[in-house]
Amino acid sequence: MEPEVLILGAGPGGATAALALSARGIPCRLIDQAVFPRDKVCGDALSGKVALTLRRIDPALISDLELQSFALGSHGVSFIAPNGRRLDIPFRKAPDPLHPPGFIAARMDFDNWLFRKASAAPGVSVHTGIRISRFKRTANGWEVSDKDGKQVFHARVVIAADGCLSRFAREHGGMQMEDEHHCAGLRAYYDGVEDLDPNGFIELHFVPEFLPGYFWIFPLSGGRANVGVGIRSDVARKRKINLREDMLKLIKSHPEFSRRFRNASILGQIQGCGLPLGSKRRPISGDGFMLVGDAGALIDPFTGEGIGNAMISGLKAAETIEACRGDYSARTLVQYDESVYRRLWPELSLSKRMQELVRYPWLFNLVVNKATRSQELRDTISCMFEDIDLRGKLSDPRFYLRVLLA
Ligand SMILES: Cc1cc2nc3c(=O)[nH]c(=O)nc-3n(C[C@H](O)[C@H](O)[C@H](O)COP(=O)(O)OP(=O)(O)OC[C@H]3O[C@@H](n4cnc5c(N)ncnc54)[C@H](O)[C@@H]3O)c2cc1C
Repeated sequence: MEPEVLILGAGPGGATAALALSARGIPCRLIDQAVFPRDKVCGDALSGKVALTLRRIDPALISDLELQSFALGSHGVSFIAPNGRRLDIPFRKAPDPLHPPGFIAARMDFDNWLFRKASAAPGVSVHTGIRISRFKRTANGWEVSDKDGKQVFHARVVIAADGCLSRFAREHGGMQMEDEHHCAGLRAYYDGVEDLDPNGFIELHFVPEFLPGYFWIFPLSGGRANVGVGIRSDVARKRKINLREDMLKLIKSHPEFSRRFRNASILGQIQGCGLPLGSKRRPISGDGFMLVGDAGALIDPFTGEGIGNAMISGLKAAETIEACRGDYSARTLVQYDESVYRRLWPELSLSKRMQELVRYPWLFNLVVNKATRSQELRDTISCMFEDIDLRGKLSDPRFYLRVLLA
């Protein structure tokens, strides 16, 4: 008996879907073209949503992650405004060093850890090193196979979690790359960057060169750092930005970065990858399929966070399969879209507006200047990480008026 459910891609979205199906006693097949451990170009920051999703599936997962030496606890974020002023915001008002709200972990390690958990879960059959390139609709669902047709699998429903270049999403989900809803990103690993935050604060530098995107420095275990830059693809194209050259130029010429990187050495290559942004609401299911994570373009357009959203959508796909009771028609699976967007759309649409606000550096400078002087404002922003209703204030003009008058 072949499992009814086939998950394409064993990254955070696919592995989470497999774990959540297993927890519900629903067998599935999990296929990936890579053999794990495998790398994924990323900033490696795991937000609070990652911890929350793991806890929802099984609290033992988050306790296990906390024990892993590759996972550095992250307790906050530093925003550096275009004028250079720095605003340190803890993720929680009262930090708990034993249970960090977020983590930073190289994807080579985190994805491998999650993949191993999914592989060991009851009812999950795993196939790696198989690149799926053909999808055929059949009377009962799908026939999927590799290029030569040597590996053929059948399933009634496909969870496509095959990432930002998802072939399935393009061919069957109607997804297209749109420059204004897409970001170009680069990542490099460095050793020896100075002044990394001892509490694992991630640094987002909104330097004028890359607005409305940012340059980041994220500390990693072992004293390394994940360093990179992301900018909307339409802006990069219009301004003819060469991300690689401009990032290296910034590190070399900027007074603060040139000091912090003076003894640093780059580890391996600078690598690039696209980020399909969730700044537009799109259909993410259809007859016999659901699109999860990057395949469904669910990355936060302001922060670039996609791992937590991939995992949330993986969990929602499993919940939908359980609720559908074998009816995988488009009419039934549309409840997946509703469930994902009910959870994510308030923050995705808000982040879209915030991405637009960052186009006005003076406004950013103003908020950061004021917040560095006001504990109350810092506390409000800190609470915004946990409370989406509060985050809504950031896109309300009255908030800025209050800041101005504070
Ligand atoms: C430069 C950059 C920085 C980023 N920084 C962050 C960050 O700091 N924090 C954050 O939360 N997010 C970040 N993101 C976004 C994050 O990387 C993605 O949102 C996340 O990886 C999505 O997970 P996923 O499971 O949907 O896809 P993926 O992680 O891409 O996994 C897809 C899987 O599908 C497999 N696959 C693909 N095609 C096939 C095929 N044909 N057959 C079989 N298998 C296939 C792949 O091998 C892969 O294992 C960043 C992205 C970029 C590009």
